Amino acid sequence: MNDLSSAPRPERQRKPDWIRVKAPVSKGYGETRKLMRDLNLNTVCEEAACPNIGECWTKKHATVMILGDTCTRACAFCNVKTGMPGKVDEQEPEHVAEAAAKMGLEHIVITSVDRDDLPDGGASQFVKVIEALRRNTPGTTIEILTPDFRGRMDAAVEAIVAAGPDVYNHNLETVPRLYPTIRPGARYYASLKLLERVKQHAPHVFTKSGMMLGLGEQRLEVHQVMDDMRCADIDFLTLGQYLRPTPKHAEVKEFVTPQAFDAYGAIARAKGFLQVASTPLTRSSYHAGDDFKEMRAAREARLAKQRA
Ligand code: SF4
Repeated sequence: MNDLSSAPRPERQRKPDWIRVKAPVSKGYGETRKLMRDLNLNTVCEEAACPNIGECWTKKHATVMILGDTCTRACAFCNVKTGMPGKVDEQEPEHVAEAAAKMGLEHIVITSVDRDDLPDGGASQFVKVIEALRRNTPGTTIEILTPDFRGRMDAAVEAIVAAGPDVYNHNLETVPRLYPTIRPGARYYASLKLLERVKQHAPHVFTKSGMMLGLGEQRLEVHQVMDDMRCADIDFLTLGQYLRPTPKHAEVKEFVTPQAFDAYGAIARAKGFLQVASTPLTRSSYHAGDDFKEMRAAREARLAKQRA
C-alpha cells in the first residue's frame, strides 16, 4: 500500500513580504469579472494568475486576451493553457469594443495567445479588434501586446501597424541565454527584430517590451538586453519579478529586491528609454494607461528640446 503522507510534495516557494497582495474581493472586481463573462472575453489577468488582479479589476482595468484561452506554445513561465485552440470568435472584436465602452476605458491593453495554427498567426484578429475600438470608442488609446508571429512576422507587423495602435508591445521576457529553457518556441533576435520593424513601419507608434527577473539571469545580461532594446529603438521597458504559477513551471531562482529593481530602473533611464517601470509587481499592462500618458509627455518634452 502506498503511504501518501510520505510521498514527495512539490516544494512551495515562500514569497517575500514585498510581493504580498490583497485578495480580490471588491465590488469593482466583481463587476469587471461579470462583464468579461457576459461578453465571453478571456483576460490574461485570470489566465496568467496575475498578482495584481485585485487592484486592477477594482479600478476596471483588465487586459483582454483575444483568440481564445489555449496557446500553441508551452513556455516554462506561463500559466496559460497549452493545446490545440478552437475556432476564432468572430464576435470578439465587437465584444472587446463593448467592454471598453462599458468600462469607460481611456486606455486598453489587448493581448493574445500564440496561434501558430492560423495562417496569419492571428494578426487579422488584432486588426479587427483595433478597428472595432476605433469605431466604437474613438477616445480610447490602444496598446497591443502581440506574439512573435513566427514565420510570418513582416506581413503581421505591417497589417497591425497599419490599423493604428498607439503602443506596440512584445515582451522579450528573459535574457537570450535562458531562451532554450524558458521560452523554447521563440528566438531572441526574432523578437527584437519584430519591435525594430514596428518602428521602421511607423516611427510614431510607441514600442514597449518587458522582462521577468528572478529566472537565473545575471545583472550584466539584463544590461545587455537593455542595450539591445535601445538599438531597436524601444521606448518603454517593463521589469517585474517572475512568480511561479504552479510547481510544474520554472522555479524562481531569486526574489529580486525592490532596491535592485530601482537600480535597474535608474540604469534603464540612463540608457535612454522614454519610460521605465521596474518594481517587483510590474507587469506589461500594470498601470499601462498612466504610463502611456507619461511616455507621451516625455516624447513631447524630448522633441521640444531638440527643436529649441
Ligand atoms: S497587471 Fe495587467 S494582467 Fe495583471 S491584473 Fe493588471 S491589467 Fe491584468
